[in-house]
Formats: sequence, structure tokens, C-alpha cells
Amino acid sequence: PAAPRRVRQPETVAPGRVKEVTSVSNPIVKDIRNLALKKHREDSGLFLAEGLKLCIDALEAGWRIRTLLVSRTLLPENDLLQRTAARTVAAGADLIEASDKVLAAISRRDNPQSAIGVFEQQTSRVEALAPAKGGVLVALDRVRDPGNLGTILRTADAAGAAGVVLVGDCVDPFSLEAVRATMGSIFAVPVARCDEAAFLRFRQSFRGQVVGTHMRGTTDFRAPDYAAKPTLLLMGNEQSGLSDALAGACDTLVRIPQSGRADSLNLAVATALMIFEARRGGLTL
Ligand code: SAM
Repeated sequence: PAAPRRVRQPETVAPGRVKEVTSVSNPIVKDIRNLALKKHREDSGLFLAEGLKLCIDALEAGWRIRTLLVSRTLLPENDLLQRTAARTVAAGADLIEASDKVLAAISRRDNPQSAIGVFEQQTSRVEALAPAKGGVLVALDRVRDPGNLGTILRTADAAGAAGVVLVGDCVDPFSLEAVRATMGSIFAVPVARCDEAAFLRFRQSFRGQVVGTHMRGTTDFRAPDYAAKPTLLLMGNEQSGLSDALAGACDTLVRIPQSGRADSLNLAVATALMIFEARRGGLTL
């Protein structure tokens, strides 16, 4: 690889370095590939955003970038890629002009991305996410599937939810699969993480209605008056539903009526129905 070269920028922050990396065995590539593993994401506090659009969404939303990898094949002909690269370096992050082989190895896909960003993780405290009247805060009990979590974050974003709380042992919202499924909403919806005990303490101080979804719920999900108060909405684990402690902490247990053979709905689908029902009064065309 070529020696790092400096790019002069007018900003007070020291500009990042620009490097060219063509070999998948380069140690920088190894470090970035390791971000596919939860342990490495936890240790470093970093995660990957794949694709130029996602990287731009993240930068626009003020997320801190550490490294941007761009395709050295596409860079000369792509204005937006060039501008994003310049912005990254000006922000003090490193720019890597990478071969398509390197980009494909990082995202483990055949058709390589034009850009991959390494960003700092950002989470909120659950107390900071209390919704206003007519608003909804979604709590997920031990969600396991990254596709479900990503889809729920995207839906929460679309419906204007105040945030999503991950309760107990949940899948990592910063995993590649979850981030992919959010389609950029990971950068728009605040996420908090806490264990069940901390969540139950938060619930005690919550000023609004606490609505849990349960297969044995006796209230129709459309019955509560969601416009009158803030709502804390609890959704259960894909296999076992809501824990007894969380179900017991709800003011109301609701069910989405079903007909046909299916025992239950997919968690992300049930959450979408719930959030859009709760936000009905706040959404207009
Ligand atoms: N076997 C689990 C049970 O009995 O709770 C089914 C879990 S379901 C796949 C995952 C979650 O989606 C549930 O805990 C609940 O939050 C929500 N859910 C799915 N279908 C629902 C329905 N018809 N009414 C209310 N919630 C539902």
C-alpha cells in the first residue's frame, strides 16, 4: 500500500489521512472486517454502515465517522463519492481508497459497495426517551432476530416513535444485518439498552399508559386511547413472548385479533400494527 498522504483542509480539526488499500490481508482491513463480530463492536464501540447513501445519512444526522472506505474504481467518476470522501477527511476521519476485492471482503457480498463507513456507536439513556402525549416509546423484550430489530427501527422511524428500548439480552442493533434492515433509520431513531430490572424502575416513573402485547391479552389493540397520553408499548420475544415480570408491569395487555391458522404474527409485523395504531392521531398524509 502507498504511504499515507495528508490532505490540507481549512477546518481547525486535523484532517484525516488518505490511504490506498488493495490487499485483503492488510491489517486495517482485518480490523474493519472484525467489526462483523459482536465482541469487536463492543470492545471498539464502532460499527459499519454499508453503501454511500447510508454513510451520507449518518453524516447528515451528525454521527461520528472514524474511517470511510471508498471504491477506488468508482471514485474518479462519482461526484457524490468524492464530496463525501472530502467531507470525511475534513472531519478528521481516515479515507481508504480500496480495491473492489477489499470492499467485497468487508461486506461479504459479491457486488461490492461504493462506500463503507466505520462509525462510532451512539445510544441514549432510557430516561431521555419519554414520549409526549400521543407519542409512543417501543420496548422490545429480548428481541433475537436482527432482521426483526432492523425492521422495527425502520418502522419506528416512519411512524415517528420517540425511540426503541432494548430490554434484556437483545440482538445487537449495530450488527451488519440489523443496520442493513433499518435502511438508515438506525441513524434517526434513538435506541436505549437496559436490563429488565432497570426497565421496571423506568416503568415505575413513566407518566403515561403502559400497553403490553400478549397472546392472552383480553383487550383489542385498537381499544386504548393512544392520543390521550404518552404510551410505553411492550413487545415480546419471538419464541416466548413477554416475560411474566414485564407482562405484570403493564396497565393493559392487548391482542391483535386473528383468524386463520397462524398462531401469532411475526414480531416486526405485530410491532408495526401496534405503532401505527398508537400513532394514528399523529400521522397525516
Ligand atoms: N409463542 C409466543 C407467545 O405465545 O407469546 C409468540 C410470540 S410472537 C411471535 C412475538 C411477539 O409478537 C409477541 O410477544 C407479541 O408481542 C407480538 N404478537 C404477535 N402476534 C400478536 C397478536 N396477535 N397480538 C398481540 N401481540 C402479538
